[in-house]
Amino acid sequence: METILFFAFAKPDGSLGKSAREALAAAKELAEKVAPNAFIGAVAGGKTDPAASLLAGAGCARVLAAENPALDQARYAADAAALEAAARAAEATLVLLPGTSRAQRVLGGAAHRLGGRADTHVTELRPAEGGIEATRWHYRQRIEARFTREQRPWLVTLDPSGFAPWEAAAAEPAPEKLATPIDENALRTRVVGFKAPESGAETIRPDANLLFVAGAGWTKKQADGKPHVEEAERLILEFLRLSRASLGSSKSLVDLAGEGEAVLSFLTHLHQVGQTGATPRHPKGLAACCHGEEPHTVGWRFINERRAINLDPNCGWARGKADVLYVADAFAVMAELNKILAERAGQSPRQES
Ligand SMILES: Cc1cc2nc3c(=O)[nH]c(=O)nc-3n(C[C@H](O)[C@H](O)[C@H](O)COP(=O)(O)OP(=O)(O)OC[C@H]3O[C@@H](n4cnc5c(N)ncnc54)[C@H](O)[C@@H]3O)c2cc1C
Repeated sequence: METILFFAFAKPDGSLGKSAREALAAAKELAEKVAPNAFIGAVAGGKTDPAASLLAGAGCARVLAAENPALDQARYAADAAALEAAARAAEATLVLLPGTSRAQRVLGGAAHRLGGRADTHVTELRPAEGGIEATRWHYRQRIEARFTREQRPWLVTLDPSGFAPWEAAAAEPAPEKLATPIDENALRTRVVGFKAPESGAETIRPDANLLFVAGAGWTKKQADGKPHVEEAERLILEFLRLSRASLGSSKSLVDLAGEGEAVLSFLTHLHQVGQTGATPRHPKGLAACCHGEEPHTVGWRFINERRAINLDPNCGWARGKADVLYVADAFAVMAELNKILAERAGQSPRQES
């Protein structure tokens, strides 16, 4: 008989983020099938009340709250201690966490201390003969593995964007305060601030509805025989500002920087989508000035509706990779699109400086 523990770190305001609510929905669904009376929720953070209410509303039989100023920010020693304490208090056999960097970092250490096993990047969990079956991808999303484990406790992080987030009403919780032994040594690491890659942090938005991909065409010579990189930068940044889309790129475009060519200054290798890049998850995708070659489009596996703008009607996108291909000049299309978006938002598009 399984005892399922859902564990998450709260945001500074005490609530749960989207990926945590997605993992909560997945944990609840599994618990209803395999452990209806043994579904426990735990939250750790500087504040925990809003998250505890959400866990109570999700039907957790017990709600554990590790509330401690030391858990306000991610710190390995304190976070691992909180996870270990929650798993022990719940006597959990299966511990489910959202696949955030904070949870991934402490998963292995906590599993070791608990004498259990850890798995990351799981995309599905379901009851199966002889236990619970997990699904995850390997080798850049090419191989799907389904597996079970006999060892317990089994600690699992669930990849974001695979489940609809838990949204239902919160309930009045009666959280059990979880004593988390965090000694002085666990606090030697001090978080002094955040430093993210300059451009990537601003334009990579995993929660966006739209992925906008810029290809190398933006930097190529155009009809007048000259490249228009500055105009490309302005059009793309304006579109991202108005649409709140996430920015991706082809490998060719991000590599150009290393080759000393004129490039879009806000692109880094973090933006690269494809075989040797990222495989983001967004409901929609729009590629512009990108040829749509296979090593690029394998990264679009989890983009549901795909559109592309390319001058070439025989580009890779035309060969069954995009749902809609606009054979048009991306400079003209994006300028018009920005005008429409600005009008809708009641703003005037930014003038060329
Ligand atoms: C092992 C391996 C791994 C790889 N991994 C990746 C990967 O992870 N990600 C990735 O992206 N690539 C990857 N590649 C490279 C990939 O095969 C392609 O070469 C690359 O994606 C092409 O990039 P692109 O379409 O931006 O550029 P290009 O091939 O140069 O295409 C530019 C396009 O812009 C169009 N264009 C130009 N001007 C305009 C305009 N005004 N309006 C509209 N369209 C215009 C042109 O018609 C052209 O189709 C990999 C290759 C290999 C061999």
